Amino acid sequence: MSQTSLLPTALPEARHRVQVLAPAPLARAYDYAVPEGMAVEAGDYVRVPLGRREMFGVVWDGNADDDIPATKIKSVLQKYDLPSLPAGHRAFIDKVAAYTMADLGAVLKMTLSAPDAFDPPAPATGYVRGKLPEKLTAARQKVWNVLQDGVPMRAVDITRECGVSASTIRAMAEAGVLRTVNIAPDCPGVIEDVPAPALDFSAQQAEAAAALRDAVAAQKYAAILLDGVTGSGKTEVYFEAVAEALRQGKQALVLLPEISLSAQFLARFERRFGVAPAVWHSEVSQAKRRETWRGVAEGKTRIVIGARSALFLPFSDLGVIVVDEEHDASYKQEEGVLYHARDMSVLRASLAQMPVVLVSATPSLETMTNARQGKYQYLHLPVRHAGAHLPDVFLVDLKRDPPPRRAFLSETVRAALAETFQAGEQSLLFLNRRGYAPLTLCRTCGFRFQCPSCSAWLVEHRRHGHLQCHHCGHTARAPSTCPECKDEDSLVACGPGVERIEEEVKALLPDARTLVLASDIFTGADIHGAIKKIENREIDVMIGTQLVAKGHHFPALTLVGIVDADLGLAGGDLRAGERTFQLLHQVAGRAGRAEKPGRVFVQTYMPEQPVIAALSKHDRDGFLAAEAEERECALMPPFGRLAAVIVSGQNEAQVDALCRKMIVNAPRYDDITVLGPAPAPLAYLRGKHRRRFLVKTGRDVSVQKYMAGWLSAVKIPSAIQVKVDIDPQSFF
Ligand code: ADP
Ligand code: ZN
Repeated sequence: MSQTSLLPTALPEARHRVQVLAPAPLARAYDYAVPEGMAVEAGDYVRVPLGRREMFGVVWDGNADDDIPATKIKSVLQKYDLPSLPAGHRAFIDKVAAYTMADLGAVLKMTLSAPDAFDPPAPATGYVRGKLPEKLTAARQKVWNVLQDGVPMRAVDITRECGVSASTIRAMAEAGVLRTVNIAPDCPGVIEDVPAPALDFSAQQAEAAAALRDAVAAQKYAAILLDGVTGSGKTEVYFEAVAEALRQGKQALVLLPEISLSAQFLARFERRFGVAPAVWHSEVSQAKRRETWRGVAEGKTRIVIGARSALFLPFSDLGVIVVDEEHDASYKQEEGVLYHARDMSVLRASLAQMPVVLVSATPSLETMTNARQGKYQYLHLPVRHAGAHLPDVFLVDLKRDPPPRRAFLSETVRAALAETFQAGEQSLLFLNRRGYAPLTLCRTCGFRFQCPSCSAWLVEHRRHGHLQCHHCGHTARAPSTCPECKDEDSLVACGPGVERIEEEVKALLPDARTLVLASDIFTGADIHGAIKKIENREIDVMIGTQLVAKGHHFPALTLVGIVDADLGLAGGDLRAGERTFQLLHQVAGRAGRAEKPGRVFVQTYMPEQPVIAALSKHDRDGFLAAEAEERECALMPPFGRLAAVIVSGQNEAQVDALCRKMIVNAPRYDDITVLGPAPAPLAYLRGKHRRRFLVKTGRDVSVQKYMAGWLSAVKIPSAIQVKVDIDPQSFF
C-alpha cells in the first residue's frame, strides 16, 4: 500500500516524501518517506537511516520521486527541534559543491560541524550555598567562601578554584551545606547593546565607516574592499560594520587567518563591544563548538570571529561578513573540499543578500582587479593613524655586503642590531624557515638526509634533537655519524633556520634576551605567553617565522631584519612574487608602529628584482600593476581561469599510464589549454607519486563543465587518486 492514502486529507500540502542530504561523501540528496504525524520542510534537521547506519541530515530542496515503490523508501526517523537551515545557506552549499566539484554531502558536512549539538544541551548542575553548619573544615570553608555572591558554580569550576576534590563537593551537597540548581548552558557571543565607538575617527576613517554602515543597513549584496596601510585603523573601521549589523538585529561574522586569532585581537574586540565574541577555529573544544553551533543556529550567538571554516556555520540571520587579511593564503583549504573562503564569502553574501567586506593592506591581485573593474566598492585608508610613519626600508645587497663565514647576518644588520639593543629597543629577525638548518650533508661522502616518503630534504631541529620532513612530518633522530660512509663528525648543517639565526645573535650580543617564535615551538596557549613576554619587554631580539608576521602590535619594536628576502621567490608558483611581497610587507609593517620610527633591512642577492625593489620603495601599486600586466598577457588568473588535476598513487608506472590515457582523452577546444602531465613540484609526497595537469581557460569558460566532461571519459583505477583543484593557490 502506498503511504499517500494514509495521509489525512486535511493536509493536502504536507510533504510525504522528501529529499534528505546527509553529511557524507554523496553527490546528492536521497528520497525518504515522512512518517505520519511528522511535518518537515526544506531546511529541517532530521535523522535518517543511510545504508546500515543512522545519520543526521538536512531536508533538501529537490522534489522526491513519488513513483518509487514505498517498499524501497526508508523513513525519516526523527526531526530535531532546531530552526531550519535558511534557504540562502542551502543554495550556498549547492553552489559551493558545484563550483569546487566536491560532493554535495561533503560540503554539507562543513556546516554540520558539531553534530552533537542537535539535541538540546543537558542543563548543567550548579551549586549554591545551603545551610551553614556549626563547623567547617578548611577545605569546605573555601568552597563556602567562593559561593559568597550567590552565583551558581559548576563542580569543575569549584574544584579548579578551591583545589578541593569532587567528592568534597558531593559530600557537602548530601549534608545540605550546598544546594544544587540547574544552570543554563553557556551561549557565547551574545550581545544586548552595542556601545558607540570610544575613539574619534579621522575624516577618512569616518567616511569609510559610514559607507560600511550604509551597506549593512541596506541589507543587500555588496562586495567592498577596505584597503589601508597597516595601522591605518582598518580594524576600528570594520568594527562599525559589525556594530551596524548587530544594531539591525542581525548576526556578524569576522573571518581571520587562524594564526591571527590572537588573544590580543580578541581582547581588542571585547574592549570595543563590551563582550567576548564566539570564537571558531580548529583548537576550540568540543563543548564550546557545540554551544557555538547551537547558539549560531538559534540566532542567540550574534558575533563569531573565526577561521575559514566559520563561513559554513548555520547562521540564522547573518547580516555581514568581514574577511580580514583577505589576501592570506590560509583562506584556501587544501584538503577535503578545496575551497577558498574569501571567494566563497563573496558567493555567500550574494546568495543571502548582505555585504561582504574584504580587508587588507596588501590586497590580492584578484580583489584589486575586481575593485578596479568596479565590481567591488573601494574604500581607502592611505595613512597611518596619528601620523605614525611607515618604516624606512633599506636593501642589503649580500653580494656587496656578505655575512661573515658560516654566518647569515650581514655587517649592516649586525650593526643595526647592536644599536637597537643598546638603545633599549626591540628587534625582529624574520626567516620563514623553522628549525636549525634546511639540509644536513656529509662532508666526506656527500650524503644528504632525505625523507623516505617525499622528495624533500630533512630539516634539522637541534632544539628537539631530530631531523624532520616539513611535508609529511617524518622524524628521525639526528645521528652523529654519516649513515653512508660511517665517518664521524663529518655532518654539516647547510643554510639557516630560525634556531641557527638565534645562535648567531647570541654570539653577537651575549647579553641580549632572545626568543624563537615558530609553530613547532609554540602552539595555542603558549604563544600568548610568548607574546606577553615581548610586550612586557622581557625580550630584546625575536627570531620568527611567519608566525610573527601578522596582527601583533609591539610598540618597542623598531628594527626588522629580513634574513633572506629571496626565499619565497624560487619555484614556479604563479603567485610567488605576490605572496613574497605581501609577507615581507607585513613583516616590515611590524616596525615602528608607535612614536619611535622603525627601520627595516632586507637582505637579498637580487636587489633589482621587481618584488624587492617595490618593497624598498613602498610601491605596492606599481608592483601590482606590473604583476597584473604580466598575468594579463599570459591570460593567467585573474584574467583567465586555472584548474589543476593532481593524479597520485603508490605505483609510479600505473600513475603514468593513467596520465597518458587522460591526455589522449582530453577534449580539445580553441580556448582551453591542457598543460601536462608534469611531475608535481613535490613529485613524491607521503609515499605517493604525483603528476599534475593544469587546465587554462578564458574567464567566460566554465572550467567545471570541461573537467566534468573530461574526467567522466576516463576510468580511474581504485588505487589511484585524481583530485581536481579549481583556482589552485599552491602549486606543490
Ligand atoms: P589596521 O587594522 O589598519 O592595522 P588598527 O585598526 O589596528 O589598524 O589601528 C592601529 C592602531 O591605531 C590601533 O591601536 C587603533 O586602536 C588605533 N587607532 C586607529 N584609529 C584611531 C583613532 N581614530 N583614534 C584613536 N586610535 C586609533
Ligand atoms: Zn616527508
